[in-house]
Amino acid sequence: MCEGNLEAPTRHPLDWKSKDFYDEAKLLDELERVYDVCHGCRRCVSLCTAFPSLFDLIDEGDTGELDGVDKKDFWKVVDKCYLCDMCYVSKCPYVPPHEWNIDFPHLMLRAKAVKYRKGETRIRDKLLSSTDAIGKLASIPVVVNVVNATNKNKVARKVMQATLGIHKDRELPEYSSAGFRKNASAQDTFPVKAGKNTPGKVAIFSTCYVNYNEPGIGNDLVSILKHNEIPVKIVEKEACCGMPKLELGDLDAVAKLKERNIPAMARLARAGYAIVTAVPSCTLMFKQELPLMFPDDADVNVVAAAMFDPFEYLMLRKRDGLLKLDFKKPLGKVSYHIPCHLRVQKMGQRTREMLELIPDTRVTTVERCSGHDGTWGVKTEYFADSMKIGRPVFRQMSAPEPDYISSDCAIAGRHIAQGMRGKDGAEPQKQHPLALVRMAYGI
Ligand code: SF4
Ligand code: SF4
Repeated sequence: MCEGNLEAPTRHPLDWKSKDFYDEAKLLDELERVYDVCHGCRRCVSLCTAFPSLFDLIDEGDTGELDGVDKKDFWKVVDKCYLCDMCYVSKCPYVPPHEWNIDFPHLMLRAKAVKYRKGETRIRDKLLSSTDAIGKLASIPVVVNVVNATNKNKVARKVMQATLGIHKDRELPEYSSAGFRKNASAQDTFPVKAGKNTPGKVAIFSTCYVNYNEPGIGNDLVSILKHNEIPVKIVEKEACCGMPKLELGDLDAVAKLKERNIPAMARLARAGYAIVTAVPSCTLMFKQELPLMFPDDADVNVVAAAMFDPFEYLMLRKRDGLLKLDFKKPLGKVSYHIPCHLRVQKMGQRTREMLELIPDTRVTTVERCSGHDGTWGVKTEYFADSMKIGRPVFRQMSAPEPDYISSDCAIAGRHIAQGMRGKDGAEPQKQHPLALVRMAYGI
């Protein structure tokens, strides 16, 4: 028996190929077992709304115990989980090797997979998780103007809420026809300087969000790498990383996307490239989620070993004595939010460390869930919860009266900016950390 220690816990493979995985009766038995342990523990009550929902169901039941909860209501807890993994990584003392063997996020994922296979997933959710297909369509010139105007139009948003279940007040990201992949000015002519801790050349997996919504983030990453004379290229063939489908429980779609992405990435990894993405959820997908689904796939594992968060790579570059520190512009006060999908990568606060290298820059770090997730906080039924979960983050980010607010997760950053906006419409300037570093370099 081992209960809690100073080490980050180990995630274990997802048993999604076993014959019991999709057996609903067995799933309900396991939900009952784990919910009962959680009821006796309640340590995770402040993390999200899944746990308060569970505890409310128990407390308001006839017996005050789990046997007073109708099993049909077990699904209400599943629906409130957006798989941030924080309960496993930061709270639970009963994760394996503890004999109680609690892996709450994997249990929620299994429940979502069962629900998906039963055909009970909403069309809206399937649509929102098709980030690549929607991005391709919405970023077509002319179409992009219509989509962006519609997303800002109050009447259209009421219609979208009524028909699609997308909350009318959720500010949606704009689409861009510029695209990142087709216009990226990658340059791989610098001499390769490998360090003790870092490969000397980088391949960028652009991600749907950077490609279709904010290509500027990708361009900033390219500029920073070029400034540091690191050869950089774009992964030649790319589909969605699969995280939105994973969060939906559509594991077969995840497997198909893996088949499309991994071969080209494995070739790059074997050729000595670091593979970098500027979206923490996508990095996590390749670093952790795919290896947990395909633990024996050599290509998946070689890609996982080559994956870096941008700031993880840059700070290791510094350790190798290969990072330029010729910053020209101070940033003043920066309120920086570290997203859950970066925290669970177990690599420390590399973005904060990099921002703190910039002279006359004071960083306030907020290490708490913002409550958005990729698509969860967009949905009508969860919008209020997402703003409620985010409230402490909005408050802590506001406290230093920052010159900039920033999050590695661009979606969380937009959600935080929305939550911080004053009644007069005033809001602090939001910039992605890569944009801040590019600005500080004066490039
Ligand atoms: S994975 Fe995240 S959202 Fe899901 S139950 Fe755990 S803490 Fe809550
Ligand atoms: S997941 Fe673990 S720490 Fe969280 S409430 Fe359940 S038993 Fe407690």
